[in-house]
Amino acid sequence: MIRQTVLVTGGAGFIGSHLCQRLLGKNFKVICFDNLSTGSLNNLQKIQPHINFIKGDCNDYNQLKIVFEKNKIDIVFHYAAVVGVKRTLENPLAVLNDLEGIRHILELSHLHQIKKVIFASSSEVYGEPVEIPEVEDGHVNAKLPYAVVKLAGEKLMEAYFKMYNLNTTSLRFFNVYGPNQESSDYGFVVGIFINQVLENIAPTIFGDGTQTRDFVYIEDNIEAALLTIDAPLTAGEVINIGTGRPVTILDLAEEIIELADKQGILKPQFIESNRNDIKHRFPDVSKMQKLLKFRPHYKLSEGLSQTLAWYKKIT
Ligand code: NAD
Repeated sequence: MIRQTVLVTGGAGFIGSHLCQRLLGKNFKVICFDNLSTGSLNNLQKIQPHINFIKGDCNDYNQLKIVFEKNKIDIVFHYAAVVGVKRTLENPLAVLNDLEGIRHILELSHLHQIKKVIFASSSEVYGEPVEIPEVEDGHVNAKLPYAVVKLAGEKLMEAYFKMYNLNTTSLRFFNVYGPNQESSDYGFVVGIFINQVLENIAPTIFGDGTQTRDFVYIEDNIEAALLTIDAPLTAGEVINIGTGRPVTILDLAEEIIELADKQGILKPQFIESNRNDIKHRFPDVSKMQKLLKFRPHYKLSEGLSQTLAWYKKIT
């Protein structure tokens, strides 16, 4: 059987590295294209001999063009982006520049008649929600550069489908967590809390902890993306990828303390927030269930246990 070739941009990052591994397990040929700005070859250690890693920048058309010309690519996952609340707020112009990369991916995918293009969008496009739960064709409230770029990216994906019949799908990821995720101040809440707890520091919550997020374990996020490859009726669509079970940040902190067996030793600490944090995230996941025939498998406690075990191993 002829193996299909998949290009994963941002493949050395948290989500991209898991995706490369799973694609390899499914017998795809994998090309990982990453500028290693936040990603790392450590994330690809186990699989690097079996994939084609290319260091390069999506925002540079010529670098990407060579990759498309030299390889017969069938499927593209465009995951490269400047990511993380702190980093994106500090580097708005770099974030906006990612629009170039999205345009390059679409133009080259069109020219090379790629069979499927899957774009990593974000729940951030909803901004402060106008309605709950957040529905794909409902209100969006994108205000920050990161959210604006993701929303524009979705619209460009849709436009290439409408203009050229390019089979594109945008997946609006809600908070993904798991092994390989950055846990510095520039990282994400799960990794930050786990690191704090493992170091016997009280997890610090911005605000009162009643803000909610939908946490998706990495294996579930990847499963949904893999199902998108062959799912009919997904061309030109935007799909929320979440569990539909929002969790408060306080509950998250307490769950991590409990799983690490540090109840009675640590208590979440609340600090004043000057960040304009979004209060709630609550996706409607019926479109995901219908089009991808997918429901997440991991309970929060299971995903957190696996993540905690990984952090224990690397610290
Ligand atoms: P990450 O920072 O770990 O991965 C991003 C990868 O892209 C890194 O390896 C980085 O080196 C690479 N990269 C950045 N700019 C590049 C460029 N111009 N050219 C080539 N490579 C570049 O972040 P992640 O959490 O794995 O995010 C992956 C994708 O999923 C991103 O598009 C992100 O916006 C999206 N997303 C993530 C989450 C989440 O919870 N982690 C939620 C919503 C959306």
